[in-house]
Amino acid sequence: MVSSNDLYEYFYCPREVYFMKKLRLPSEKRKMQMGRDEQEREVKRVSERNDVFGISREDVAKIEQNKYLESLDIDFCGIMDVLLTLNDGEMIPVDIKYTAFPHLQPGRVKQIIGYALLIDRNYDKNTCRGIIYYPMQNKQDTVKVSPGDKSMLLMDIERIKRIILSDKVPRKTASKNCGYCGYLKICGSFD
Ligand code: SF4
Repeated sequence: MVSSNDLYEYFYCPREVYFMKKLRLPSEKRKMQMGRDEQEREVKRVSERNDVFGISREDVAKIEQNKYLESLDIDFCGIMDVLLTLNDGEMIPVDIKYTAFPHLQPGRVKQIIGYALLIDRNYDKNTCRGIIYYPMQNKQDTVKVSPGDKSMLLMDIERIKRIILSDKVPRKTASKNCGYCGYLKICGSFD
């Protein structure tokens, strides 16, 4: 099954997906990940404020952490850091990113679109936005999601599946990404 994390990796470098999902090679982590405990503390702090990720607390009906959703018919799954349900029924996925680079990147946007797709399919919604929150900078981005974005995501999922099924090593990405990649040491031997 393709995961939302695979989407992130695919838009970082398709070759990473091949190493990770096809060859199942361990990656040397390219960045330090904050622990789950810290993330849970962050969600607690946010949910105790007057606004929850920029939304008035009074408008929020439910806050769910580490929400796993899947859609078997498209072979896709994901765990969103937070799933907000508002009083008017809107559901909003929230991704929490501990990063020194708090800006929108294609992979981060695709993850939000993927969560929106999963919410639609599990709850019969038409999810049109998601939030990426950067705790280190106390900053957030709102990602608007259109029906066209979701259609394109279905094609992305198919492309990732083809990489996993294929024996062909995918093309390399832009070299600026390689310095942060956990497969840098072994990648050259696959050229
Ligand atoms: S080293 Fe560069 S080309 Fe190789 S998998 Fe990593 S990002 Fe892709």
